[in-house]
Amino acid sequence: MKSYDRLFIGGEWVSPAGTGTIDVINPTTEEVAGTVPDASEADVDRAVAVARDAFDNGPWPRMSPAERAEVLTKVSQAIQGDMQGMAELITTEMGSPVSWATMAQVFAPTMILDYYVGLASSFAFDEVRQGLLGEVLVAKEPVGVVAAISPWNVPLFIAAAKLAPALVAGCTVVFKPAPETPLDAFRLAEIFTDAGLPHGVLSVLPAGREVGEHLVRHPGIDKVSFTGSTAAGKKIGAACGEQLKRFSLELGGKSAAVLLDDVDLSQALPMLLPNAIMNNGEACIAQTRILAPRDRYQEVVDAVVESVAAMKVGDPLDPEVAVGPLVAERQRDRVEGYIRIGQEEGAKVALGGGRPSGIDKGWFVEPTVFVDVDNSMRIAQEEIFGPVLAVIPYEGGDEEAVAIANDSHYGLCGSVWTGDPERGLKVARGVRTGTYMLNSPVPIDFSTPFGGFKESGIGREFGPDGLELFLEKKSINLPAGFSPTI
Ligand code: NAD
Repeated sequence: MKSYDRLFIGGEWVSPAGTGTIDVINPTTEEVAGTVPDASEADVDRAVAVARDAFDNGPWPRMSPAERAEVLTKVSQAIQGDMQGMAELITTEMGSPVSWATMAQVFAPTMILDYYVGLASSFAFDEVRQGLLGEVLVAKEPVGVVAAISPWNVPLFIAAAKLAPALVAGCTVVFKPAPETPLDAFRLAEIFTDAGLPHGVLSVLPAGREVGEHLVRHPGIDKVSFTGSTAAGKKIGAACGEQLKRFSLELGGKSAAVLLDDVDLSQALPMLLPNAIMNNGEACIAQTRILAPRDRYQEVVDAVVESVAAMKVGDPLDPEVAVGPLVAERQRDRVEGYIRIGQEEGAKVALGGGRPSGIDKGWFVEPTVFVDVDNSMRIAQEEIFGPVLAVIPYEGGDEEAVAIANDSHYGLCGSVWTGDPERGLKVARGVRTGTYMLNSPVPIDFSTPFGGFKESGIGREFGPDGLELFLEKKSINLPAGFSPTI
């Protein structure tokens, strides 16, 4: 058990202003896995003041991007040196199957860090453009003090997606991890300290929603980078709008996997289903609606049920396990509630629907496949965030499948599976989501933009777009004959 009695403010471990604590509960054992201080508004005020001073007066924004990237290189190397330990820590916090966690929760963040290290030397922070009236230096400067707020489902991944571009840009950051997953965030703080991050640049304050709201509204914050639910994202967007504060939002999803009538299921399902139930179904990009042509519907249902039934459920620290427990008891209640709702709405459970037998501890739900689902049902419209799939029939060809995929408030991800990539590309272009998989097992490539249409978010993380979220552009009109050093 790893516990902390201090908060990480500006690179120092300091006593919290209040006395509240957060117990991290291991969702497999239901036992306390660690305790951390519950940061208060006074701690936020202190961290923002430190970050403000480091931004306005400190060395970090004035160093070159390449110098800042050196710190990130060390952070990436340190994480790579302890992949197993980090994966087991995250699995203990929130139940992610450890073999998936090692790749997606730990190795992927190092890829993100490494990508932004590379971009630090190739990105044009300064450009001289030929304007209408003379030459103009377009300088891209750090946006200022950033509030980074993350959810519990892929905690280190989201931390890397925000901290790597923010720090390469030259921002200082107050990072509020979710209260369910503070331990990996504090481990990351230790790694940043060892990597030589200057004083004041990073604070890590585990806390709940109210303190998060205080951080968002704090006048010392220039930009909010938020990942979490659409409900919270709307509140944060409204608060930032009132203050004309910069913000970007990565929110929920209800992605549709479209199987075209020529699909080879033996090729498609081994790529699709791990993406449908990834991270116990607690993934924003999970492909939880499976759209199948009516005349192959039963064949698809049988194949999906057979593959999902073969997924091993159990202790997520077992490398063979594909589905572990949900993050918390309230999350299991929520998922079980949706399983009831689906049945009340007239959908049928073809697999699962209950708790796995033989497991008497932990917040497990059986991987569940609903069939005879209509896209208007709540189980097809709302984000369940658990291992629950809805197989939805469509008639009338590819256009009908696109229309059903688009019949959603969300627009985060999606996929199409076909023997004809040209036909698949037409479907991909028709679906209004920020990322798409065309016969591909890869939902996100960190060198390209990722984010949501509609209620799945505003802004794009990853790639140069993700760096630009943390930059302000300034146009400096130059006198004739002057060539600035850039
Ligand atoms: P959540 O919105 O409840 O909480 C996310 C974070 O925001 C937590 O740190 C929480 O304490 C904080 N928070 C909540 N309300 C706040 C407010 N009003 N002001 C400031 N901070 C606030 O979400 P969650 O349950 O932790 O995470 C699951 C959600 O995150 C799902 O909807 C999932 O789809 C989404 N998600 C999206 C992406 C993406 O990239 N689009 C990635 C991962 C998760």
